[in-house]
Amino acid sequence: MHLETKLVQAGVGRDTITGAVSFPVYYATAYRHPSLGQSTGYDYTRTANPTRKVLEEAIAEAECGDAGFACASGMAAIHTVMGLFSQGDHLIVSLDLYGGTYRLFEQVLSRYGLQFSYVDLRDLQAFAGAIRPETKAVLIETPTNPLMQITDIACVAGIAKRSGLLTIVDNTFMTPYYQRPLELGADLVLHSGTKYLGGHNDVLAGLIVTKGAELSEKVRFLHNSIGATLGPQDCWLLVRGMKTLALRMERHQSNALQVARKLREHPAVTDVFYPGLDDHPGYEIQSKQATGYSGMVSFRVRFSAQVGPFLENLRIISFAESLGGVESLCTYPATQTHADIPQKIREYVGVCDRLLRLSVGVEHPDDLIHDLIQALDASLVAEGCRR
Ligand SMILES: *Cc1c(COP(=O)(O)O)cnc(C)c1O
Repeated sequence: MHLETKLVQAGVGRDTITGAVSFPVYYATAYRHPSLGQSTGYDYTRTANPTRKVLEEAIAEAECGDAGFACASGMAAIHTVMGLFSQGDHLIVSLDLYGGTYRLFEQVLSRYGLQFSYVDLRDLQAFAGAIRPETKAVLIETPTNPLMQITDIACVAGIAKRSGLLTIVDNTFMTPYYQRPLELGADLVLHSGTKYLGGHNDVLAGLIVTKGAELSEKVRFLHNSIGATLGPQDCWLLVRGMKTLALRMERHQSNALQVARKLREHPAVTDVFYPGLDDHPGYEIQSKQATGYSGMVSFRVRFSAQVGPFLENLRIISFAESLGGVESLCTYPATQTHADIPQKIREYVGVCDRLLRLSVGVEHPDDLIHDLIQALDASLVAEGCRR
């Protein structure tokens, strides 16, 4: 079966009692045992829940993994996976990273004795050079957030394997529709299900997919022991969203490409970052390791004074944090998603105060382009008045 079919069919035919096409939400936290030593497969909802199981099997199948785990948020999923590591262990992490992940590592997990090095993983020599005897894993975000830098997953995973490290990929931006890191040699995939998988800006969720029986068992133990599991209603919402993933991703992508091209022509814009533009430095690697480019576009305006007027003049696109939903959103990383990254590091990686990030939704592309152009024009006028 193709991925589109698998996603649409998630949960169908699973409720053998009623035949419900949409698999029901099981709110029960406790499950009656038929007799001593017997179980229906469900005992207590933290350990396993029927609605959650439909979701976990769907994401595991979509990512071509062996097991899936649904968590309360993307951050809960990352935190759960970090339970694989012990005091003194070292991890190598993408330099341009989701701000919340950086905050978890630097302000929480570093206090537990985990160590993190932030490396530009496009540079394979820099990656190999950062490996120490106590290094246990590499965490890749590709494309990076928000600069859309592309890391070669197979190359990094190959070096990691030879050095005995686990390869973990945050696949939130691409989704399994466009990119399947486990097939490229990764061991674990992470998702913020809040983004494209949910797709409607209405559910907070995280997912983990593992490859191999031993690793799957370890994560199963951590998932149940830590208990940051996803509630059944949210599992149902996520399954519903995932059924239309393929349709939405195609539209996100075609809209994003049109938006990126138009932004590039505008005099108020100096740089556009979209891996689907054929002069993007990561275009070739992206075309090799993924089947698409997704719907995230970042760009820099000419002057930081344009940012305020630009955001205030947007009519259709909402100035809001998050991404991956059907509604287009625009984020200002410097004060929103990346506010917890020290300014010096932010500027060093290129997340400057002229950078804006667009999550291009599935509206009509002409309306989105019109909205962007009128807001950019207004921002130039406002900037001119100010000078
Ligand atoms: C949003 C996001 C997260 C965190 O997920 P939450 O669901 O908000 O906890 C992690 N990684 C990436 C790439 C994200 O975009």
